[in-house]
Amino acid sequence: MKYYSTNHTVPEVTLRDAVVKGLAADRGLFMPERIEKLPKEFFENIDELSLQEIAVRVAEAFFGEDVDSKALEKIVRDTLSFDTPVVEVENNIYSLELFHGPTLAFKDVGARFMARLLQYFINKDSDGTTVNVLVATSGDTGSAVANGFLGVDGIHVYVLYPKGKVSPIQECQFTTLGKNITAIEVDGNFDDCQRLVKSAFLDDELNSKLLLTSANSINVARFLPQAFYYFSGYAQLKAKGRGADIVVCVPSGNFGNITAGLIALKMGLPIKRFIAANNANDIFYKYLLTGEYTPKASVQTFANAMDVGDPSNFARILDLYAGKHEVIASLISGNAFSDSEIAETMKKCYEKTGYVLDPHGACGYLALKQLLKEGETGLFLETAHPAKFRDAVTEIIGCEIEIPRRLQEFMKGKKQSVEMSANFADLKNYLMSI
Ligand SMILES: *Cc1c(COP(=O)(O)O)cnc(C)c1O
Repeated sequence: MKYYSTNHTVPEVTLRDAVVKGLAADRGLFMPERIEKLPKEFFENIDELSLQEIAVRVAEAFFGEDVDSKALEKIVRDTLSFDTPVVEVENNIYSLELFHGPTLAFKDVGARFMARLLQYFINKDSDGTTVNVLVATSGDTGSAVANGFLGVDGIHVYVLYPKGKVSPIQECQFTTLGKNITAIEVDGNFDDCQRLVKSAFLDDELNSKLLLTSANSINVARFLPQAFYYFSGYAQLKAKGRGADIVVCVPSGNFGNITAGLIALKMGLPIKRFIAANNANDIFYKYLLTGEYTPKASVQTFANAMDVGDPSNFARILDLYAGKHEVIASLISGNAFSDSEIAETMKKCYEKTGYVLDPHGACGYLALKQLLKEGETGLFLETAHPAKFRDAVTEIIGCEIEIPRRLQEFMKGKKQSVEMSANFADLKNYLMSI
C-alpha cells in the first residue's frame, strides 16, 4: 500500500519509506491510500476474539500487502504483550484502560509496534548497519520509545531530555535501561533538545556517517496501531451487552489517538460518535465551535501530555473529511477543562465510585458526564496509570495509591546518562565518535 502526504505536493511512498522518514518531504503527514472496510462477519463475532486476534486482523488491513503475514502476526503479538481491559466505572460509563504496558501509558502500543516494524524493514534490506533513532522528550515520549525499542537488534536509541526538568519517575524509565538505549541529559530545556535533534537530521556530515531516524509520534507505524484497541473496546462492550450507541471519549493533545479511532470508524467499527476532551489547551474545541483553527503557544497544565497548542494530527482529521467542518463537528463533540475541574473530577469520581483517574483520563470521564445522552453508553480512554502522577493524585484523592511492580522495578535501577551541553557541536562530536 502507498502512503500520500496530507499536503499532496510530493509523490506517494512505500510503507518502508513512510516509516523510516516519518514526515513527508513537503512536511505533510503520511496517510494510507486506502482504508479497508472490514466484513460484517468480523464484527458479528468480534466479542469472541482476544485483543491480539483482533489486532492481527486490523493490522493485515493496513500492512498485509507490505509485510509477510507470519512476521506481521509476530510483530502484533510481541507489541501486545498486555491487555487493554474495559472496566465499568459507573452506570453507562466505562474506562478503556490503556496503561497496562511497560511504561504505563497508551503510547507503549505505538512505540512497541514501530520498533518491531522498523526492525523488520532494516533486517530485510540492510547489511548489518545500525539505525540510530534520535528522540527529544519532555518526559513520556522518551520512556515509551526507549522501552519500545529496548533490546531490538540493529537499532540504537538516543533519548535527549532536559536536565532536571522531567519527573524522577519519568527519568528512571529511560535512564536505567542500558543495552541499546542511551539517555542524553541536556543542559537546557525541552526546546533545546528538539533543536538539537532537528539539527542532527539536517547535518550532512552526520547523515553520511550514521543512519539517523526519528520515532516521532506522527510516524504512521506509531499512529495506525492505535486503532487496535478501539476494536477491542467495542468487542468488550458488546460482550457485556452494551454494543449499541457507543460514544468514545478521547483525552487529546496531538490528536493522534482520536485520529486512529476515526480510522477505525471508517473501517466499519460501530461507534456512534466521538468526544475529544481537552485541558486548557482548547484549540480543537474552539475549532469545533467556530470552524476556525487558530494555533496558540501551549500552556502548562496538570494533564501535561495534552499540553499541545498546534496538534499535528489536525491535518489528518481534515484530510479524512475533506476539510468539511460540518462533517467533523457532527461526528466529534468536545469540551475543555481547567486544572481545578480536573482535580475536582478526580476527587468526586474516587469518592463516588472508588475508581482512581489520572489527570488525562479525568478529562475524558468528565466530558462523558457532561455530553452523554439518554440511551448512550460512554467509553473513555484511560491513557495513563494514575501512579505516574502519584504525588498529585495522592494529594487530591487523599489516599495513597499503589505503585505497580513494573514501575517499582524502574525506580530500583541505576541511572546512566551522558551529560551534554545545549550546543549542537558537542552533540555532533559525540555522535561522530560512536
Ligand atoms: C500523549 C498522551 C495523550 C494525548 O494523546 P494524543 O494522541 O497526543 O492526542 C493523552 N494522555 C496521555 C497520558 C498521553 O501520554
